[in-house]
Amino acid sequence: MKEDDDMNAVNKLTNTWPDSWVTCRTIGHSWKPINAERKPSWGTLLVIQCVNCHTKREDTINRFGEVSTRNYIHPDGYLIPGKREDKPNRMQYRRVLISRMNKGK
Ligand SMILES: [Zn+2]
Repeated sequence: MKEDDDMNAVNKLTNTWPDSWVTCRTIGHSWKPINAERKPSWGTLLVIQCVNCHTKREDTINRFGEVSTRNYIHPDGYLIPGKREDKPNRMQYRRVLISRMNKGK
C-alpha cells in the first residue's frame, strides 16, 4: 500500500491475524533449526521454523554447502495475495504492532 496513512485497510486486513503474524511481518521471523520430516531426492535438507508464527523454511544444501533451493511453508492465511505495492509496508505493520502492544497495557 502506497500511502502511509491508509491504516483503515491495513487494520481491516490484519484484524483477524494473531499477534505473532504482526510481529513477524514487523521485525522478521525468529528461526530455529528443526528436524526435516522428509528426505530430499538429492542434497541435504536444512529446515528451520519460526518460533512465533511457525512458518517453515526448507533449504536444499548441496555438497559445497550452498543453498540450491529454498521453499517457504506458511501457516494458512499468512500470505497476502496481490502485488507487492498493494500490500502493507513495514511501517504500517509496525503501527499495528505498537497499537496491539499498547492495548495490552
Ligand atoms: Zn514468523
